[in-house]
Amino acid sequence: MTAHSTYADFYRQSIDHRDTFWSEQAKLIDWKTPPQQVCDYSNPPFAKWFVGGTTNLCHNAVDRHLATRASQAALVAISTETDTERSYSFAELHAEVQRMAAVLRSLGVKKGDRVLIYMPMIAEAAFAMLACVRIGALHSVVFGGFASGSLASRIEDAEPVAVVSADAGSRGGKVVPYKPLLDEAIALSKHKPAAVLMVNRGLAPMHLQPGRDHEWAPLREQHLHTVVPCEWVESTHPSYTLYTSGTTGKPKGVQRDTGGYTVALAASMKHIFDAKPGETYFATSDIGWVVGHSYIIYGPLIAGMTTIMYEGLPTRPDAGVWWSIVEKYRVTHMFSAPTAVRVLKKQDPAYLAQYNVKSLKALWLAGEPLDEPTAQWISDALQVPIIDNYWQTETGWPILTLANGVEKQTTRFGSPGKAMYGYGVKLIDEATGEELTGPNQKGVVAIEGPLPPGCMQTVWRDDARFVNTYWKSIPGRLIYSTFDWGIRDADGYHFILGRTDDVINVAGHRLGTREIEESIASHPNIAEVAVVGVADSLKGQVAMAFAVVRDSSGLTDDAARLKLEGEVMKQVDHQLGAVARPSRVYFVTVLPKTRSGKLLRRALQAVAERRDPGDLTTMEDPAALQQVKDLVG
Ligand code: AMP
Repeated sequence: MTAHSTYADFYRQSIDHRDTFWSEQAKLIDWKTPPQQVCDYSNPPFAKWFVGGTTNLCHNAVDRHLATRASQAALVAISTETDTERSYSFAELHAEVQRMAAVLRSLGVKKGDRVLIYMPMIAEAAFAMLACVRIGALHSVVFGGFASGSLASRIEDAEPVAVVSADAGSRGGKVVPYKPLLDEAIALSKHKPAAVLMVNRGLAPMHLQPGRDHEWAPLREQHLHTVVPCEWVESTHPSYTLYTSGTTGKPKGVQRDTGGYTVALAASMKHIFDAKPGETYFATSDIGWVVGHSYIIYGPLIAGMTTIMYEGLPTRPDAGVWWSIVEKYRVTHMFSAPTAVRVLKKQDPAYLAQYNVKSLKALWLAGEPLDEPTAQWISDALQVPIIDNYWQTETGWPILTLANGVEKQTTRFGSPGKAMYGYGVKLIDEATGEELTGPNQKGVVAIEGPLPPGCMQTVWRDDARFVNTYWKSIPGRLIYSTFDWGIRDADGYHFILGRTDDVINVAGHRLGTREIEESIASHPNIAEVAVVGVADSLKGQVAMAFAVVRDSSGLTDDAARLKLEGEVMKQVDHQLGAVARPSRVYFVTVLPKTRSGKLLRRALQAVAERRDPGDLTTMEDPAALQQVKDLVG
């Protein structure tokens, strides 16, 4: 490939000479058998990357570094909840992953089987993920903050042979026992995993079900020296599924391949993060989210970096804790979310000033819109580039950002940046399906197929849902919709203007309002409910619920209303987890609907945000919105 003087050239090459471009990137990883075909797009929108190649994700993340950096720290697991720091060199990580792989095999896990991982941010969670891909099993990590209902629906869909979990997580010093939630989820699920592997942290008592449940520590002892070689799998062999919220109550299992994902991450570490082996990456996300998969575990390890896993709050023991980690481990790359920065912004800046953060090359922020005051504040405090990046669980790596490894470009606050190589990003008129080519025109952010390597292959066991959800939403075109509104300025910088669907984003966590509605509606005294996302200065958005009760005779005063509100919130906590809990549940007698019975969500959201609800000529009962106005004040 020719040398690229500018990012614009690099990008053009990736689109105009796709196969040449990606065959060059494929050299960044180890293959057992080299690919015969770069991209098979004979059955759009399904793309097969690096066809005929065989490789292994764990080999590329761990084994291949043994020759050059066996004693370098690979994984540092820091918990300010248990006050522990555990560091594993690449050699030690290699050994631990093989032990975990051997234990999973002993529990019956084979190539192609699913393993559900429901764990806090501890090193064993990383061992479990790496062990799965080592033996060709698919992991399905479920965020530890989710409760039994969310967990049950994921167990039912993934049908795991085994579940790996721990006695408890901890948040802000409060122990959250996982085992009772897991037991309840398995009881709720039609599918029953054959084996459950429990890591005992000594935080909460566990009841082990004989025959099904096993403790990690004694099994690990049995397999201290078991050698488990990497299973060479086809490039298109799925590496994992990860559930994400959409507009229906049923979460979608985003399925990722092996070869394309490994190449995409290796390329992103080079071109986007400008990362070098031996440097240190600290992503403050959780393994339950896509950032955790791509940039806590796989990306940094593929690049031969040290990766830091962190369990705890950004403000405990004090708001300097992250910066103390940056100083101590000489972190070069930090990745976080705007919400976390907004939390820190509320604290005394002296916490940051007392640490030496000069090792940082940049701070990347993603997951939700990055507002200018937040970006400016952290930029002034750190004196390093603040790089916004926009992507989705579905894509696995950034769609829009700056590729500083190719060409240093200036950040424009408010914009996540330019289309990344490989992504044919278009802005599309929602009604006509036409491409909007002029500057500053608002359209749906869409991506022309094939999606680049690393993006979702399909929805787990539901090709039709993949096609219909993502590729058919724009009239007359087979094009991938992100379901985000955006504009692009004359220089190619994009601005994201919010979702086109009912997905909301609470503190960087993506939630479907439908799932929350279903949970609330299962309360015996709730007849109907609408949940909308409402702007919040700290969390970006919060969920707010408006519910019609079945029997209002008991709701005579504020105390009764508060009691019911508390019950509803508890129910959401219990079924979905506290992340999904609405900030308020207001009780109304009627919801705002059109004459044809369609809920006027946008109007409801506008009123809840004290904005003008716009044209209401189709509304059935104008009094419905007045009630909402009176309630939110
Ligand atoms: P998730 O799949 O949980 O990563 O959520 C993806 C969604 O979060 C996107 O479709 C956007 O709506 C939003 N999002 C992610 N990153 C950004 C960003 N940098 N700026 C604006 N919105 C973002």
